[in-house]
Amino acid sequence: MNCLEFERLLDEGAADRLPAEALAHARACEACARSLARARSLERELETHFSEAIAAPAGFADRVMVRVERGEARGVRWLALPSAFPWWTRAALEPGVVLALATLALFTWRSDRWLAGARAAWDGLAAAPKWAHDGLLAAGFGPLADLLSRSLASVASASPSVQLGLALGVAPLLLLASWLAWRAGERLVGAVGAR
Ligand SMILES: [Zn+2]
Repeated sequence: MNCLEFERLLDEGAADRLPAEALAHARACEACARSLARARSLERELETHFSEAIAAPAGFADRVMVRVERGEARGVRWLALPSAFPWWTRAALEPGVVLALATLALFTWRSDRWLAGARAAWDGLAAAPKWAHDGLLAAGFGPLADLLSRSLASVASASPSVQLGLALGVAPLLLLASWLAWRAGERLVGAVGAR
């Protein structure tokens, strides 16, 4: 055992139950013997200071229980974490957030279906210019119709990566759906809590 290890043991508050090895070091090392004496006297001071049992203030238990009941009435919490945890830990475990994340995860998991759906929608849109073109032409918007049909046709024949980019336009819709799920989760929790 060296001085550093000895100091570490003292820092852990083990002045009164040091291993024999540490005591042997303290006998041989003057500096550590002084540290040990200081630590022991500090421990004695603390013990005498806090030895008298301090009674809880009158009505303390009642006040705590009232607060607990009020907290429970505000809603069911799946997991009650002490406030010592950072806010985002507790926020991430809110039922609404969990539901929203699960929704997002579901959409992400089935993203191939989403992309396929988006592509099918684009195929339908690509066919739309045909009749839109005729209609606009009849209404006298020829140049505009040409522009529209050209841009939509280029999208339909674009590379999968471009179509993927367009499908990513669906992302805001996903966010909206997640938000709605979150609101639904909050309302569910409110309903359960009010029961
Ligand atoms: Zn030492």
